[in-house]
Parts: sequence; structure tokens; C-alpha cells
Amino acid sequence: MAYVITEPCIDTKDGACTVACPVDCIYEGGRMFYIQPEECINCGLCLSVCPVDAILWDEEMPTDR
Ligand code: SF4
Ligand code: SF4
Repeated sequence: MAYVITEPCIDTKDGACTVACPVDCIYEGGRMFYIQPEECINCGLCLSVCPVDAILWDEEMPTDR
């Protein structure tokens, strides 16, 4: 169980979540950002700041993402 960044982040990549994350566990990839699940403390702060709602709790992930 963890927070996961999904497709809406692709090419949006504004990095707002990386600024909000208190443990700096969000890393930049080629076209989007990724959460390192081993470092994430599941605080949910990144989720509340994402402008495109790309961050989801993986148990609530729709099957099309
Ligand atoms: S849930 Fe918290 S610790 Fe995990 S990636 Fe988001 S801001 Fe960082
Ligand atoms: S705030 Fe949302 S769109 Fe911006 S980098 Fe993070 S996951 Fe991607």
C-alpha cells in the first residue's frame, strides 16, 4: 500500500509534490515523477497539492491507470 503517481503527471511535471513532500521521496523521471515507496511515510501531502490529481492511493487505483 502506497501512494502512486499516475499518467496525468506525464508532461505536467510541475514538481509541486516534491516541494510538499517532507521526506523528499519523490524523484524525477523522464516524463513524470515517481514516489519511492520504501521512503514514503504516507502522509498524503503530495496528493493535496497536485494540480492534476495524478497521485492516488494504490488500493483505490482505477483499473485503467
Ligand atoms: S505521501 Fe507524503 S511522504 Fe509520501 S510521497 Fe507524498 S508527500 Fe511524500
Ligand atoms: S504535483 Fe502532480 S503533476 Fe506535479 S509533479 Fe507531482 S504528481 Fe506530477
